[in-house]
Amino acid sequence: MKIIGVGRNYKAHAGELHNPIPTEPILFLKPDTALLKNNDDFYYPDFTKDIHYEIELVIKISKEGKFISEKYADNYYDEIGIGIDFTARDLQDKAKAQGLPWTLAKGFNHSAPISEFVSKKNWPNIQSIPFGLKQNDVWKQQGNTADMVFPVPTLIHYISTFITLKKGDLIFTGTPAGVGSIARGDVLEGYLDNQKLLTCAIK
Ligand code: ZN
Repeated sequence: MKIIGVGRNYKAHAGELHNPIPTEPILFLKPDTALLKNNDDFYYPDFTKDIHYEIELVIKISKEGKFISEKYADNYYDEIGIGIDFTARDLQDKAKAQGLPWTLAKGFNHSAPISEFVSKKNWPNIQSIPFGLKQNDVWKQQGNTADMVFPVPTLIHYISTFITLKKGDLIFTGTPAGVGSIARGDVLEGYLDNQKLLTCAIK
């Protein structure tokens, strides 16, 4: 399986990092070794001094498809979840300054904690779901999928034009404003519509 991330898909987050609003989706990949499941602990690695949390709605692809039209995109996923796109911001800033890829800043081991997945049927409209992140019991990110620059059908259409989507692939759909640094001892909690689905302790 593969993990596809979407950069700058919420205007307020693009703004807080002083990035322009994109005119086409900005995509990156994380390897399957980035996954961190079952609310396991995250061990802070030595190669970075500034990992940021980014809470994101995650789409789990349910069948193979390419050149998927926006109209039929809903047929390609049944379940959604919540995930954290851990980003080594110091490595990313260095890469950005040199025009180099974000691979290591985004794809390091366990940089993608994910929750259990739940049926999308719980929500009549994928573009109207509140979600958020608490750090040590304090709300840090509270977003709504209504604010995506590129909504889910557009992402599925765009990605599948270039890259075949397969069953089990995950799409991290971008983070709202409020990103920040993590430290050893932190507990992060991810919420999908007031339901806590994800816990990640930083060791
Ligand atoms: Zn992200």
